[in-house]
Amino acid sequence: RLYNQVQDLKGNIRVYCRVRPFLTGQASRFSTVDHIDEGNITIITPSKYGKEGRKSFSFNKVFGPLATQEEVFADTQPLIRSVLDGYNVCIFAYGQTGSGKTYTMTGPSELTEESLGVNYRALSDLFLLSDQRKEVIHYDISVQMLEIYNEQVRDLLATDGVNRRLEIRNSSQNGINVPEASLVTVSSPSDVLNLMNIGLRNRAVSATAMNDRSSRSHSCLTVHVQGRELTSGTVIRGSMHLVDLAGSERVDKSEVTGDRLKEAQHINRSLSALGDVIASLAQKNSHVPYRNSKLTQLLQDSLGKINQRHSISLISII
Ligand code: ADP
Ligand code: MG
Repeated sequence: RLYNQVQDLKGNIRVYCRVRPFLTGQASRFSTVDHIDEGNITIITPSKYGKEGRKSFSFNKVFGPLATQEEVFADTQPLIRSVLDGYNVCIFAYGQTGSGKTYTMTGPSELTEESLGVNYRALSDLFLLSDQRKEVIHYDISVQMLEIYNEQVRDLLATDGVNRRLEIRNSSQNGINVPEASLVTVSSPSDVLNLMNIGLRNRAVSATAMNDRSSRSHSCLTVHVQGRELTSGTVIRGSMHLVDLAGSERVDKSEVTGDRLKEAQHINRSLSALGDVIASLAQKNSHVPYRNSKLTQLLQDSLGKINQRHSISLISII
């Protein structure tokens, strides 16, 4: 559904598809890629009834199983410059659990320079580009890392009381913000790596308690950029949300009960809410239903007024 809604939004929204390689022993159970041609992909779905199905989808671009992290990031790179120019940018990874969202956004668990994901590359680029402009504009870059689990917002960079529930506020001066969440100034790629490690550790803590909660929560790395022109004193503000969404798989309600069912309902509801917001922006509706989920409330500033200072990139992974 999100796929169809996003197809309606031309221009400021781009949708990419990344196919990850098969993991050992998986090939026979899953759809296989028939062919990829720039923005088109045709897949063969295995059928239980002996008849194979072929389906085609189009995207801005399709990355095959051999695409490197660097190649995937290269298409997102122009967005980074626009953050420094005062745009609000959102990059999502959407797909089922195990499809490679965290790999794309963060990287595999054993990180190497080649395997670093979009998050790290985006921030490194911000530093590089802001440095190139330093004779003209001074930039301050700071980050927040939040998790939304069962419609509760938590601070992944908290050094104390990680489990505290936080409120999303909307103020005329700061726009949408989470004032109680840690906001950390960063000035180098190694600062970012340290923070990412704290964030991953905090996510892992809850994972042991709740059995891989990370796939059932949305995690959002928000980068706030403030630039001040040295001669005029003019201030430019831009932001970037890098979102690793909860797994999009439909949970069969007849099979789950209790906490698992509640989690599934929260995920289904918030992913639908995201789809509804995108659909109503595409149709240029005057009412956009941001308030239906914490995810859309948090991203409101970056999803709104799409034809102005906003840009959205969705990496859909199959
Ligand atoms: P998700 O976050 O969508 O649940 P992961 O990012 O954890 O999925 O990926 C599932 C597994 O597949 C991990 O072991 C990951 O390292 C591996 N993987 C995902 N994408 C790729 C890729 N493009 N190349 C190699 N391995 C990948
Ligand atoms: Mg993941």
